[in-house]
Amino acid sequence: MTAPARETVAQRVERIKREKPSWSIMDDIRRYSQDGFDAIPLDDLTVRFRAWGLYTQGDGGGTRGEEMPFFMMRVRTPNGLLTSEMVRTIADLSDSYARSSIDITNRQNFRLHWLRIEDVPTVWDQLERVGWGSMGSCGDNRFLNGNPDFANLPRKFKLTITGCAHWCSYPEINDVGVTAVRRSDGVVGFHVRVGGGLSTRPHLAVLLPAFVLPHQVLDVATAAAGIFRDFDELRVNRTKARMKFLFINHGWTAEKFLAEVERRIGYTLAPAADEAPPEGHYRDHIGVHAQQQAGLNYVGFSVVSGRIPPEQLRRIAALANQYGNGTLRLSATQNILVHNVPDAEVDALVAAADAAGVSVGGSPFQQGTLSCTGRAYCKLAITETKLFSIRLAQDVEDRLPGFTEAVKLHVTGCPNACGQHWIADIGLQGVMSKQDSGEVEGFDFLVGGGLGASSSVAHRVGYRAPADDVGDALERLFVRYQETRNANEIFRSWTTRMGDPVVKAILVNSATSATTTGVVS
Ligand code: SF4
Repeated sequence: MTAPARETVAQRVERIKREKPSWSIMDDIRRYSQDGFDAIPLDDLTVRFRAWGLYTQGDGGGTRGEEMPFFMMRVRTPNGLLTSEMVRTIADLSDSYARSSIDITNRQNFRLHWLRIEDVPTVWDQLERVGWGSMGSCGDNRFLNGNPDFANLPRKFKLTITGCAHWCSYPEINDVGVTAVRRSDGVVGFHVRVGGGLSTRPHLAVLLPAFVLPHQVLDVATAAAGIFRDFDELRVNRTKARMKFLFINHGWTAEKFLAEVERRIGYTLAPAADEAPPEGHYRDHIGVHAQQQAGLNYVGFSVVSGRIPPEQLRRIAALANQYGNGTLRLSATQNILVHNVPDAEVDALVAAADAAGVSVGGSPFQQGTLSCTGRAYCKLAITETKLFSIRLAQDVEDRLPGFTEAVKLHVTGCPNACGQHWIADIGLQGVMSKQDSGEVEGFDFLVGGGLGASSSVAHRVGYRAPADDVGDALERLFVRYQETRNANEIFRSWTTRMGDPVVKAILVNSATSATTTGVVS
């Protein structure tokens, strides 16, 4: 098959996926590991490697830098479930092959950086020994991994199922979000949302007007993936190829989507039940919480922005073995939990964790801060985010030691929103900020994002600051919040009540001398 003379990006990707399925190149990757980076064909490097969780990383310059012959690898971790052996394995792999880099991502998996192609097969082999791998962790697939029917979707496809009332896996921002619900007659089933996603065009998933029984969920999810796969217009433009664009650009509604699902599955679903979306601000499970099983608890460690040294992971794995039953879990808020800790062992675990330097819980800013990869490794980044957000959380905590309110502070290094700034109380989106001295890295401020009972997408408040000034601006905002909030008024409600002009004026601090820092229209 030859390429047309003038291919669009989308046409090129579609052609490459058609010519050779991405999942068929495992042996090729093993061969490249012997022949070296330069032997990798561009089509594999830029398209098919993604299905194996492999992306080349940047040199730290983001969009202003160069691609390097090193890889980021996402390790696919269904439901974030882990054993202590898996945690020790990833920590050892990080030290041996990834320059001790390791991040917990908001997709409930681990990510390594600095991998050489020469080491990829060894990493795979060691992952496989503990029942793990990277197949399908990125790329235009994810659903029913290994199923050729779904090997070539228009773009990535994210599906989540949440079994409790807290929705901690964020069904509102997944392509398909399945949430448990109890009907008034006591029957437990599921509601299904479709078309959620963030990136440059945020869209909260729409609720299908149907009640789905447990045995029907796979039918419905398969039909939803089929609708996505078969809608060829989504394959025309890579930036508009996610399921949400059915609703944004192609006039689909929840009713139309449900009708197509029912046509494909061949039966009619029951009407939707009443549901009560969670009010809960945090969905992170940080701290000690009782499990459903009497006498057992799960314990959540707060990992600021998901970055954790391998040695700390080993200590947490050891705690899971000593005080739990060796099972752990990653959360969508970039944290790690130890499961199945008996009541009698909780205090000892907390004390041992403190002694090991991996404290349970964390300040509101440690808990609420999340970031994307940013300029250190990402080729699309405008700004650095990971270290910036870790320092920022500490800085704001130092400035406001008595601050106890839950605030979600999400930092993202470009408009692609991997740091989910659209659903945060305060979203910081990386930009270049003009100063008298020239352009420096800075952030646009957004407020008002949130999920659950009062879902809303954050909006720009009209303020941009150089990275060095963000801490000052946040301090002003949080101090004013503390001074003027009503009883029990959460931060998001307060910013809404204040209104954008007031919030902007606080951030700008009009007493400061003006450069081009500050107000943006
Ligand atoms: Fe990279 Fe932008 Fe995604 Fe951050 S939001 S990881 S900078 S693409």
